[in-house]
Amino acid sequence: MSIDHRGATRKANTIHNKSSSKKGYLFLTVILALTIIGAFLVDNKPSQPTRTRINLPLNSSESDALKDQASGSLTNLNRTESTASNQQTTTDNAAGANNISTPSSLSDETNQTVEWQNIEVKNGDNLSLIFGRAGLGPREVHHFVSSNNNAKLLRNIYPGQTLSFLIEDNQLHRLRYNKNKFNMLEFTLAGDSFESETITRLPDIVVKQSHAIIDNNLFLAGQQAGLTQNTIMELANIFSGVLDFALDPRKGDSFTVLYEELYLDGDAIGNGKILAAEYINAGESFQAFRYVDSQGDVGYYNENGVSMRKAFLRAPVDFTRISSNFNPNRLHPVFKTKRPHRGIDYAAAVGTPVFASGAGRVTASGYSKANGNYVFIQHGPSYVTKYLHLSKRHVKKGDRVKQKQIIGKVGATGYVTGPHLHYEFLVNGVHRNPRTILDKLPKAKSLGKNALANFRKQTKQIAMQLQMISGQYANTSKDDSNDG
Ligand SMILES: [Zn+2]
Repeated sequence: MSIDHRGATRKANTIHNKSSSKKGYLFLTVILALTIIGAFLVDNKPSQPTRTRINLPLNSSESDALKDQASGSLTNLNRTESTASNQQTTTDNAAGANNISTPSSLSDETNQTVEWQNIEVKNGDNLSLIFGRAGLGPREVHHFVSSNNNAKLLRNIYPGQTLSFLIEDNQLHRLRYNKNKFNMLEFTLAGDSFESETITRLPDIVVKQSHAIIDNNLFLAGQQAGLTQNTIMELANIFSGVLDFALDPRKGDSFTVLYEELYLDGDAIGNGKILAAEYINAGESFQAFRYVDSQGDVGYYNENGVSMRKAFLRAPVDFTRISSNFNPNRLHPVFKTKRPHRGIDYAAAVGTPVFASGAGRVTASGYSKANGNYVFIQHGPSYVTKYLHLSKRHVKKGDRVKQKQIIGKVGATGYVTGPHLHYEFLVNGVHRNPRTILDKLPKAKSLGKNALANFRKQTKQIAMQLQMISGQYANTSKDDSNDG
């Protein structure tokens, strides 16, 4: 078989890595290294047997989810996905073997010493210069460019990219333009002209697991368990309909998460999607499973097929931004008396974005001495949310807002001693506890009968896996485990 071929492919990619290793890559590499180390630490626990290796087809409808998660390698990954569907023939090949193993008549029929030559594009380069460095003259350049329309694409090469040449008897037999890790354009000499082929590679996907016990907060626990920042955020997002990560987590809470790690040529290139997760809050278990419905829409559902997404956010501020918790029995910081406090205070730095907790219409956006800058939002006929003490307001009366749209920034305007968001939730004009009211509101969307059957089928394996890991940890931490 084509050993040279494979070797060259690997080499080409390595060079590509190095050549584009500006700050972004360095940063990514550090993150990845930490992720891997962390993952191994976790994997040394009793989790080993549950590690599986699967190749899931990435379809383009999932690009959003991936976009949210895969940090630095974003552009590459998206590109892979968008081209994946129309490159079925070549991707199968690439994804499985991690190497481009297109049939190589050249290396099979001729001696094995013909090797790929990788040439890096430098500043101010053009095709003639690059061909020259590969040992090819102007005639070869002309022959190549004039014999295939796609060769024109090589006018748009960038420093850091590589061109790989397969030359024999001073004649170019094959040229591979490595656009990025995932996309290549390969030209092969056929008779007197060149044929071209687009090659798209998909990353290998390894399902990894992580388990952690919360000591301080979710973020630290996640980091210690080797999760990337994006995966931790994703985890918090998934459960944000049922848990308020600013206020709910307690010491001793734990989570288990099954997520994808993406590899190319054996190198970890980033984290993919979260497939399933469990969070145990004060002994109560919350589970979430990723499900792609028949329309291709992606969502997370609990074990009974009830959507994790609610009409209202648990908290209108990002949990990672909260610096302290609210004490409902405190004295009023300004008036030094116990006054009825009709909302929740989220302490956060000035400038922290404040989200509309649900879709609705802005009924007030103004300033008063007590409230400082404030925004009120009406959600349907029954519900109103209020946001006080803002430093900035980004909406005006009458505006329509979407859930999680930024409506202002945390501030310290009005009667306050420090920057925080005061958040109120009213049902039919009555103040309710924003933390607990959500559980009393109409239930989130549940999957219908058919969808539920599909959901169970799709998540069966991952659910078993989650159950198993979760069980292992439950057994090590306490004697009895519930089997719900
Ligand atoms: Zn308050």
